[in-house]
Amino acid sequence: MGGAAVLRAPAFGTRTRPLQGRRATDIDLVVDLGSNLFSRRWWRGLGTLLLLCGTVAFLAPGFEPLAGGTPAPMGEVEAEQMEALAIAPLNTGSQTGLRMAETAAVEPLSQAPERPTVELFATFNRGDSVADLLQRAGAASNEAAAAARLIARAAPSGISPGTTIAVTLGQRLDGSSRLIERLSLRAGLALKVTVQRCAGGLELTRIPIAVDTTPLRIRGRVGDGLYWALRAAGVSQGAAADYLKALAGQIDVGSEVSPDDKFDLVIANSRAATGENVPGALLYAGLDRVGASDFQLMRWPVGGRMQWLEASGVGRQTSGMIYPVQGRITSGFGLRVHPILRFARMHKGIDFGAHWGSPIVAAADGQVLRAGWAGGYGQQVRLAHGGGIVTTYSHMSRIVAPAGSIVRQGELIGYVGSTGLSTGPHLHYEVYRDGVPVNPLGVRFASRAQLEGAELEAFRNRLRALLSVGVGG
Ligand SMILES: [Zn+2]
Repeated sequence: MGGAAVLRAPAFGTRTRPLQGRRATDIDLVVDLGSNLFSRRWWRGLGTLLLLCGTVAFLAPGFEPLAGGTPAPMGEVEAEQMEALAIAPLNTGSQTGLRMAETAAVEPLSQAPERPTVELFATFNRGDSVADLLQRAGAASNEAAAAARLIARAAPSGISPGTTIAVTLGQRLDGSSRLIERLSLRAGLALKVTVQRCAGGLELTRIPIAVDTTPLRIRGRVGDGLYWALRAAGVSQGAAADYLKALAGQIDVGSEVSPDDKFDLVIANSRAATGENVPGALLYAGLDRVGASDFQLMRWPVGGRMQWLEASGVGRQTSGMIYPVQGRITSGFGLRVHPILRFARMHKGIDFGAHWGSPIVAAADGQVLRAGWAGGYGQQVRLAHGGGIVTTYSHMSRIVAPAGSIVRQGELIGYVGSTGLSTGPHLHYEVYRDGVPVNPLGVRFASRAQLEGAELEAFRNRLRALLSVGVGG
């Protein structure tokens, strides 16, 4: 035992390797208190340990409390604020807030004096009603209802939230409610209304306010960045985004605009004679480019939808069809062995693997030709897109677009299912050109709005009118 060859896990506090050349007479200061209990050597070791602990305790510095921060000296202003917020003791004139018993010095009033009228301002909030607001302000309920009816007739589209109503209340009726003497509010940008008490009750007067609808024209240099140049020139966030979107249909705004190019915007604007200003939509987006072709784009309704048209009355090339569902193509167009019928036949469309209930959207603008059960196709929607192009969407679990309805590209028409001859939820999608099935992946719709005749004339006149607007409106 004790040989270096004995492998033993070293325990805490035991010496694992005996010192070399040690003699019995050597004074051993490091005594293992775990072995040879109560021997002389053990007692000496314990004594040494206690002596060392005592020395440490004796030499160790004492604990003293840490000095805390001294409060900053109070200035005159702080002292005043403290005084205002402090609670004064009762003996220096403070009170508990409780009523004191009346003394003989109190003279009861036979009648409390009453204010003949009350004038106040109330703000109309979102979701509020005029009648509720007036009642909260202190008007009698039948008075409030009568005034609200008058105002609703003058402003059929409602009062916009944030509108301030000046209210004058008159004679007190029973309880705490009063008669309405006079009301005054803005019923819209171009209309102010007052409601006044007359002999026969409340009467409404309309006061039209002149509104100037001259659009704003904003021009400037592109500089370091188009978006921030627009914002710095006073273009609203929405109009700046619209402008970039209009240009993005023509050029790469990121790389094809140079710092010396000049932007030119016309923005709809309504300015009331009383000073309020309501900016509207972007009407014209122009870009004068250095060493490249300029852009002149104006918004114009084409087929019921606003589009950006070039000055020549030509719209942007619309990109092709979009995928009708989010999913992987599991089966392509062409000959294949049918999974159920087990013989080679033409697959007239493509299959998209998708989860049951995934939304199916129209691949392009069109009209619903047919919506309903179609034999092996199950629940099917057929869309006509003009130019002899028809798309079909089959095996749907549910149809949303009714027959005859007009759908836009990306609009929901139904949900993925497995109706008809189908082995699992998927969308079978076909495209026909003049009645012949074609590979849907090879079809791109090229459509481009082109104004003609009287409409082109109207378009040009409008563009000329917009561009006659001076800078700064
Ligand atoms: Zn299929």
